Amino acid sequence: MVTDPKFGFDTVCVHGGHHEEGHRAHLTPVYASSTYTFDSAEQAAAIFRGEEKGYVYGRFGNPTINEAEEKIALLEAYGLADASGNPLQLKAILHASGMAAITTMLLSNLKAGDKLITHPSLYGGTQELLDKVLPALNIEAVIVDFHDKETVAKSILADTSIRLMYIETPANPTLRCIDMEALAALGKAHGLIVCADNTFATPFLQQPFRYDVDYVMHSTTKFLNGHGTAVGGVLIGRDLQKMNSTVTKTHRLLGANSNAFEAFLLTNGLRTFSLRMQQHCSNATMVAEYLVQHTAVAQVNYLGLNEHPDFDIAKRQMKHPGAMMSFELKGGYEAGVRFINKLKLCTHAVSLGTCDTLISHPASTTHAGVAREHRLLSGITDGLIRLSVGIENVSDILADLEQALA
Ligand SMILES: *Cc1c(COP(=O)(O)O)cnc(C)c1O
Repeated sequence: MVTDPKFGFDTVCVHGGHHEEGHRAHLTPVYASSTYTFDSAEQAAAIFRGEEKGYVYGRFGNPTINEAEEKIALLEAYGLADASGNPLQLKAILHASGMAAITTMLLSNLKAGDKLITHPSLYGGTQELLDKVLPALNIEAVIVDFHDKETVAKSILADTSIRLMYIETPANPTLRCIDMEALAALGKAHGLIVCADNTFATPFLQQPFRYDVDYVMHSTTKFLNGHGTAVGGVLIGRDLQKMNSTVTKTHRLLGANSNAFEAFLLTNGLRTFSLRMQQHCSNATMVAEYLVQHTAVAQVNYLGLNEHPDFDIAKRQMKHPGAMMSFELKGGYEAGVRFINKLKLCTHAVSLGTCDTLISHPASTTHAGVAREHRLLSGITDGLIRLSVGIENVSDILADLEQALA
């Protein structure tokens, strides 16, 4: 186990979370077993009391799932210390999807009558969960601009039922960022639980636990898996006592568990995570520089560009501006459709973070059902193209963009 702080981030990606196998398998196999045996009635009782470690039932976890969880916890904690200066200990729980991880986090921290405070332009699924599922449980979301700290503070003071602060940074598709250091401090100063969706940035680019954040959630479907082979999510927390009690209980009882095969695919993807991110990021920088000077492009939303409104926040809290960007075509909706149809190498698909470059036109796909004025309010203009830059040779990505923009 590479828990020793002397090991580098890349080494943790490769080896982190691996435990010796009983049958000396090099890699942890796919544990396709729904239940686990006990040596004796006494041992079973000890495992159930939590005094002895042991697997019990597939919904509670298995060795394949455990490896992915420990690897991700080590990556989010990498190089960070707890209040007493010791390496930060985190617990991660793997879920069936990013949405499942977010649901477990919300339902293990909020009860009827509670409210959460968050900002506009959350991931669509998260926004719908807040709009369509939580109100029936009498849990309400208060939405304010997190760039305006004074209003955030006032809103919290004005409503004592606000219990949790929900952050997602960077956000889709304009790459707006939230200043996690300032907002988490504000949230904690008012006694809130603070959580952050770190899907877009990943622990390669930013570690929310560096600040006063209680929970981090990921859709592992994206950069962490990296190959588009499995849907998954993870919830990571720093209060180990709470993670091992309420949160574990909620995860189990919601049936939000992952499975051995998809956990195996995730662990396999994570081995090359650091290497992939380096190529994703360096390619993205070149793609952004190319798009900025193109005459068919009206605007590029990329955190590495000086003119991005959150350039400074990103520079402070992220190691690199990342692999996500969006750009606005001068020709509007028709230009967007024409561009998408001409692509030969880049993949036309929603989602992000896979090895191949993924391109989508939100106005004709994911947001076609949203009223135009609402779409425009969240920055999704008619000619907006979203780009998740892949790890192909950048010359090939640029050539494909060039012929599609011509
Ligand atoms: C994809 C995504 C989710 C939801 O994850 P699923 O794995 O699709 O359930 C949540 N947040 C962000 C930022 C995402 O990109």
